[in-house]
Order: sequence, then C-alpha cells, then structure tokens
Amino acid sequence: MTDTALTLRAFHDLFPDENAARAWFERARWPDGPICPVCGCVDHACWLRTIRRWQCTACHRQFSVTAGTPMHRTHLPMLTWAQAIYQIVASSKGISAVKLSEMLGVSYQTAWHLGHRIRAMMAEDSPLLSNIVEIDKTHAGAPPRKRAKPERADDDCDPPPPNPEGRGTKRPLLLVAAERGGEVATKVIPTHGKAAVAEALDGVLSADARAMTDGLPAYSHLGAERTHLSVNQSQREYARTDSATGHRVESFSGFLGRAVVGAFHFVSPKHLGRYAGEAAFRWNRKADACLERMALLVRGGVGRTLPYRFLTGTA
Ligand SMILES: [Zn+2]
Repeated sequence: MTDTALTLRAFHDLFPDENAARAWFERARWPDGPICPVCGCVDHACWLRTIRRWQCTACHRQFSVTAGTPMHRTHLPMLTWAQAIYQIVASSKGISAVKLSEMLGVSYQTAWHLGHRIRAMMAEDSPLLSNIVEIDKTHAGAPPRKRAKPERADDDCDPPPPNPEGRGTKRPLLLVAAERGGEVATKVIPTHGKAAVAEALDGVLSADARAMTDGLPAYSHLGAERTHLSVNQSQREYARTDSATGHRVESFSGFLGRAVVGAFHFVSPKHLGRYAGEAAFRWNRKADACLERMALLVRGGVGRTLPYRFLTGTA
C-alpha cells in the first residue's frame, strides 16, 4: 500500500453515516463556511434541520452542498456519492458502470450516470507544460456505429466493434501532450490537420517547452515559436527509456489505453473527452493523498452540471 492510499477501514471511519458524509462534502467545498450560491455571502447561513438545507441569512434563499455541481438535484444519499467517488478515485484504472452498480447496490443506469457526473467533476483545466513535451495523437475508443435504434446508455459494456488501424480509421482521435516526468493534457480533436492540432495546443505549452513529435506536417507550425524536435517512431521509443536506469518510462498513452481497454472496454466518441479527462486526473494527481484527490474533485465540480438527458442525447 502506498502512503497516498486510503484503506476501506479508514474510509468507513471517516464516513460512518449520511451526516458525516454531508459534513465532509461541505468542508471540502466550503472550507470557510457555507457560501450562498445566489448572493455569495460566506458563512452567513443557518441550517434548517427539518428539510436538511441551508438558508442564507442575507437573501433568505435555501441551498445545499450539491447546488450548481453535477450532484445538483440528486436523489442519492451523500454517503452513496462519497462511496462512488472513493471507489473511482482509489482505483488505478477506473471502474465500469456494471462494477459500480454492484458495489453500491444501485441500478445500472444510476451507476452509469453517477460515473459520468464524477468524471465531469474530474475534468481539470489543462496544465501548462514545460521542459520536453511529447505530443502524439492516439485513436482511443470505438468508431462511430450505425445504430437502428437511438444510442443506448451502455457504451462501456458493448462488444468490441471492427477496429481498422491507421489514418483512415473513423475511431475518435485524441491529442495527448505529456511533459517528460510531469503532467499531461488531453483533448479530443476532429481531424489530423494542422488547425485542429494548433487549437488543441493553445495555452498548453509554456514558452520554453521543447515539443517532441513525429514527423507529420500537422506539427510543423510548432517550430516557429519554440524548439521542435521531430523524431521517427524508433527514436521516440528510445526517448521513452530513462537514460540513467535504462528502464522504459511509462507513457500516458499506454496508461490511457489500459484504462479504456481494461475498465471500460470501448468508449464512444461522445464520451471520450470525459474518459480521457479522468485518466489525466488520475495521472496528474497520483502523488496526492486519496482524500485530497476526493476533495479536489468536489471543488472541481462547482459550476458544472451534467443532466442525464444531455448524456443520453435526448436533450
Ligand atoms: Zn444569499
């Protein structure tokens, strides 16, 4: 066990019941006391015990810790949310909706929606990358499928579809920028072209970053602003070997591939950005303690909502 881990026993000690779970979410979101989402007053609210909501003493509006987050209007207990966040954050590769529904004792649809809302809370702004930054495009997930029926909410348990390789494939495309020994940024891009790559990298590379890519023309503009190392695939493999130890350095693309294939099997293009964001959160936050990662996720959800009808395309 690493010193960043949180054991199941420690989790149960911290979250013994619904009240403890709600209090933890409130401390994580509002370290200085409840903030009214309407007038912004800090720590000027009283707790209404019977309806279990806060009331602002300035504007008299009632609110809860889930307001304005992907947990908004949830029917699930806060303890179930805490358990789901713990299971997802503590796992090394992520958890499928089937597994989550078994662990939490909720329906498959509830677990599926829960997982996507937690993924939305994990989405962080791209970090600013410096030093040597390896940039690559990877085909992640499944190609778009022709369906006779409307798309179902079961993308993480379908059998693998035909999977042509190469640039002609219709599989969704993900741009990955990974600082050597540091953080990663991911973005779903519509095409292989120069404009799509430039837009995805906007604000991602620091002025002194040295970009390392393969020799495709889509990256040629990088040399105009910074050092651009264009290498062929065999050199890139060599570059991923640590010169001091001779060990191969784990690449984020490999990590993402294992997460998608291992836990989610195949991911539809519509949801790829959220799965890639989850993998980037896991990679960038691996040195943080589990409980701190859970709190970061709660704060990251403020200002985001993700209705079920949006996810299933019925909005
Ligand atoms: Zn108020």
